[in-house]
Amino acid sequence: MEFNKVLENVTTYEAGKPIELVVREYGVDPKDIVKLASNENPYGTSPKVTAKIQELAKNMFIYPDDSMYELKEGLANKFDVLSDNVIIGSGSDQILEYCVHAKCNENSKILMAKTTFAMYEIYGKQTGSKIIKTESDTHNLEQFSALYKEHGADVIFLCLPNNPLGECLDKKDVYEFLETIDKETLVVVDGAYQEYASYKDEAKAINPKDLIISFPNCIYLGTFSKAYALGGMRVGFGIANNEIIKNLYKLRAPFNITTLSLAAAIESLND
Ligand SMILES: *Cc1c(COP(=O)(O)O)cnc(C)c1O
Repeated sequence: MEFNKVLENVTTYEAGKPIELVVREYGVDPKDIVKLASNENPYGTSPKVTAKIQELAKNMFIYPDDSMYELKEGLANKFDVLSDNVIIGSGSDQILEYCVHAKCNENSKILMAKTTFAMYEIYGKQTGSKIIKTESDTHNLEQFSALYKEHGADVIFLCLPNNPLGECLDKKDVYEFLETIDKETLVVVDGAYQEYASYKDEAKAINPKDLIISFPNCIYLGTFSKAYALGGMRVGFGIANNEIIKNLYKLRAPFNITTLSLAAAIESLND
C-alpha cells in the first residue's frame, strides 16, 4: 500500500521505558528502580487530584466541557491573560503538532537546536518541511541567527530549558534574538521546564504575557506533565495572541481533553 510520501522520513517517537517493562525484562524489584527517562515528577500527584477523580468517576457517560471554561479561566488568571489567549491540548505535544500543521507544508522550513525535544522534528517531517538544525548541540543564538538569515524559517523552536540537554538561555538573550525575527515566523517557546528554571534563576524566567505582548508572533507552551505531576493525564497549554489561538483551534478535534484530565489539571493548578 502507498502512504503519504512524507511519512518515509518520519521516525517514530521512542518513549521512555515504563517501570513494568524493566521489571519484566530484568527481573528486578520495582522498588529498586528510579525512572529518569521521561522526566516525570517523583513527588507524585496532588492528593486533591486523586480525590476529585474518584468523585467524578461516576459521571463518565457525558462528554467533557468542550469549552474547557474552568481550566482556561484558571490559566488565564494565573498568567494574567484572557482565556481567548489560551488553548488546551492533550499534552503540550498536541499543541506543538497544531503549531507545525498551522504554519507548514512541503515548502516550509523549521529551525531548531541540533539536540532538542524529538517531537519538533517528527511533527515537522509530517508536513514535509525542511528541518534546519544548528551545528551546536545546545541552543546557540548566533547560529540560530546565521541560519535564519541564510534560509529563513516558518517556525522556530526554542526549548527553554532544553530537553534533553538541560541548558537554558537567559531571557535577555532570547528577547534580543526575537527582535530580529520576522513577524511571519511563528516562534514556539517551549516552557515545559520553565517552572524549574525560573525558580532557580530569575534571569531565565520567561513571562508568557510579556512574551506575547512584546512578540505577537510567539506562542508560549506549558505542560501539566512535569512540575504539576500529571504526566498520565495528558494536559498542556499554549498562550498566544488570539489570531494564533483561533488558527490552532481549526486543527483541534472536539473533546480533545477528557473530563478526568480537565478536572485533574484544575485541581493541580489550584493546589
Ligand atoms: C515533556 C515535554 C513536552 C510535552 O509534554 P506533554 O506531556 O505532551 O505535555 C514538551 N516539550 C518538552 C521539552 C518536554 O520535555
